[in-house]
Amino acid sequence: MTGSPPQCPQCGWPTTQPFQTLSTHRTSEGTVTYTRCVCGAVRMWLTPTAQHLPLR
Ligand SMILES: [Zn+2]
Repeated sequence: MTGSPPQCPQCGWPTTQPFQTLSTHRTSEGTVTYTRCVCGAVRMWLTPTAQHLPLR
């Protein structure tokens, strides 16, 4: 979960601009996203669902 690099460790492609989004899955903990890089590396990460944010 921690230390996800801002770039692909193999080719340096910025992971914030994935070459191809394979799929997304909504789970109870958030949204899981699968992407593929230009070099073929598949990345997966979880975007936690905002539930208990203290907004005041
Ligand atoms: Zn790559």
